[in-house]
Amino acid sequence: MRIGVPKEIKNHEYRVGLTPQSVAELTRLGHDVWVETRAGAAIGFDDEDYRAAGAKVASSAGEVFEQAQLIVKVKEPLTQERARLRPEQTLFTYLHLAPDRPQTEELIACGATCIAYETVTDSHGRLPLLAPMSEVAGRMSIQAGASCLEKARGGRGVLLGGVPGVAPGKIVVLGGGVVGTHALAMAVGLGADVSVLDKNVDALRRLDALYGNRITTLYSTHATVREQVLAADLVIGGVLIPGAAAPKLVSAEMVARMQEGAVLVDVAIDQGGCAETSRATTHAEPTYVVDGVVHYCVANMPGAVARTSTLALNNATLPFVIALAQKGTRRALEDDLHLRHGLNVAKGRLTNGSVAAAHHMEY
Ligand code: NAD
Repeated sequence: MRIGVPKEIKNHEYRVGLTPQSVAELTRLGHDVWVETRAGAAIGFDDEDYRAAGAKVASSAGEVFEQAQLIVKVKEPLTQERARLRPEQTLFTYLHLAPDRPQTEELIACGATCIAYETVTDSHGRLPLLAPMSEVAGRMSIQAGASCLEKARGGRGVLLGGVPGVAPGKIVVLGGGVVGTHALAMAVGLGADVSVLDKNVDALRRLDALYGNRITTLYSTHATVREQVLAADLVIGGVLIPGAAAPKLVSAEMVARMQEGAVLVDVAIDQGGCAETSRATTHAEPTYVVDGVVHYCVANMPGAVARTSTLALNNATLPFVIALAQKGTRRALEDDLHLRHGLNVAKGRLTNGSVAAAHHMEY
């Protein structure tokens, strides 16, 4: 199959659809891969690395779209990319169509087969192509929080690990899912005093088995959240109710009573955030202060560590890219229910119920 990897053109997006290592796997299987020049240059994957992996380096996005039967990207296609898609092509990338009417209409109109990373499933009912980004954001949340706790950033001047003779900082993790689990890994590693709250007792059991008495697991009720948040140096928001806005566990009144200089890293901001005082920020200006509490609410945290994120994403997407390339789109979809769940648009129609419901369209 002819596979194309255009350079991402969304503002400040440095990730790339396929790494040179992934390209090498595909060319070894006899597929042709076109990579746009400098597609991975910002994260250390040079044109030479792609050539060495057997790719052809294309001088423009137009050439990549012209050649490819399968296009592998990271972010949703922007208007000029959508205009290049043809009915015989397959697009494999994050799409997030539900809140994006213009993209939905243009993908329907272009006739291409569009498979969205975010709705591909696995046999445990999870979303395996979203999980790597939650792992990255969870681990990053402690790093971001630790830096915000420094005085120069507006924080209360607390070192999370403490030092001999001085108590460590207190981290409270709301939600013990993928983000929470990976935040805990870093928090425990730093030697902080860590609590995690979840409504799912099985999630707490799993974390208890992992970390034993190095963490405190607590069932999430309004009173427990309040008590923990008011005592925290750093709060990590990692809750999710699938398909819904994040529950507002931290009220504005709680924020007003938190310790001066405490930090809230609201990872769940992409679903509206779990604090009443949260609003989305960017890497250019990641924080703001409400009632003395530093809020870090960056909606695309993994973008800051684009190299790690690209490698983690490829680990999850490559098996599906190989299946699409080896079998062709139609058979790959027929053979794999989980990949089929990723199908959002085909032959000029929506093929995902939630996206159709969001737009009041037929599917
Ligand atoms: P997940 O489903 O693995 O975990 C969410 C957890 O929240 C679950 O264990 C659930 O039981 C728990 N929960 C739900 N309601 C709760 C409540 N009232 N109290 C306590 N816990 C509760 O989800 P995830 O992959 O960890 O993602 C968490 C959030 O982070 C999502 O909104 C996701 O989109 C977001 N995210 C943001 C970024 C970013 O860059 N900002 C990156 C990746 C993920």
